[in-house]
Amino acid sequence: MLNILMVGNGQCGNRILDSINRQAFGSKSRFAKFYAKQQYKSNVQTLAINTAVNDLKEMKYTKAKDRIHIPHLHGVGANRNVGRKVFDENKSQIMRNLDERGSFDIAFVITSASGGTGSSFTPSLIRELKEQNDYPVYAVVVLPFREEGTLYLQNAAFALKDIRESGVDGIILADNQYLKQMGGDVETAYDSINEMIAKRLIFLLDSLDSEMMMVTDLGDFKTVMSGGAGIATIGYYEADGEVPIRTAIQKAVSPSGLLFNTNVYEEASRSMMIIKGDKSYLSIDEISTEVEKLSDSVGHVFKGIIVRKGEYPRVLSVLTLESASELEELYHLAVDAINTEKEKKERVQEDKEVDKAFSQIEGLEPHY
Ligand code: GDP
Repeated sequence: MLNILMVGNGQCGNRILDSINRQAFGSKSRFAKFYAKQQYKSNVQTLAINTAVNDLKEMKYTKAKDRIHIPHLHGVGANRNVGRKVFDENKSQIMRNLDERGSFDIAFVITSASGGTGSSFTPSLIRELKEQNDYPVYAVVVLPFREEGTLYLQNAAFALKDIRESGVDGIILADNQYLKQMGGDVETAYDSINEMIAKRLIFLLDSLDSEMMMVTDLGDFKTVMSGGAGIATIGYYEADGEVPIRTAIQKAVSPSGLLFNTNVYEEASRSMMIIKGDKSYLSIDEISTEVEKLSDSVGHVFKGIIVRKGEYPRVLSVLTLESASELEELYHLAVDAINTEKEKKERVQEDKEVDKAFSQIEGLEPHY
């Protein structure tokens, strides 16, 4: 049995964690967290951390003892310098809470890259976890919608760099911009995106702790994640009827199944493919042909097969990337955003038009 730690930082991290707990408790009931037992095979501990108490209160499926509020008025207002300082001031409380949960085989830290709390707490938290423990720590990082503004874009660029330099064992990317095809208003899109991410992570955890017909395990996952440029994403496909396994595998690496925009055949560096379903769907010939096709361009592909009686095929792919043109595009936009913010600040400092306006009434009193 694996001991797994999942931390969700900031609003986005908290909500994805809550979606994981909702799906893992196997009940849509709002009271599930009070009486239901998690359906994980592994020992999974979930912990939500936030400076904004309302974000924590909003969580419906995560137990109160698994939510830590770090008081700082109403959050850190997308300011990562403030966020870093608040983390440092509260580091011992956070690390004590984590220590009390025992030791782990693997940890995931989930956050958005662009807000304030999650994006600044995550690199510092990972650094602390890595200094104090010897288990692998992976970050699950959500990139912003590109039209969310200059502050979010510059935060995303710096946060991702900080996380990469934190000692993290790998970064799994999910991109709101790419996934917004889910449609609907923002809240509905968030819920669907969170559900997609949660579903993939639960499938992964479940597989790492399964009796497989052909084995992939935590060791293989670590090898896949250590490949490429330290950046990865996850693809998934779930058939809702009888689908040939080759189609299911193809869909799990196609744009509709991925969390991040990449051409797998050009940018992936290593892969792990987990195939689940009733024995009748799992044609070894078809699986081998498809996996070979992928390994021709990707390099190494680990495969695991899990037999689940009566279930339609489901396939999960973990892909590490050696290049990511979408990320280069994002950094391009972020550089523009940083320059815009810088110029704006300089303009305000140089050209004190507003100060001039106020200075006109200096020394005067109101008369009534
Ligand atoms: P923090 O609480 O200060 O860490 O900030 P947030 O987590 O709210 O970060 C803002 C970014 O996260 C923006 O790019 C939002 O689009 C994104 N975001 C906020 N909530 C969610 C959510 O529930 N799901 C997803 N996928 N993205 C979210």
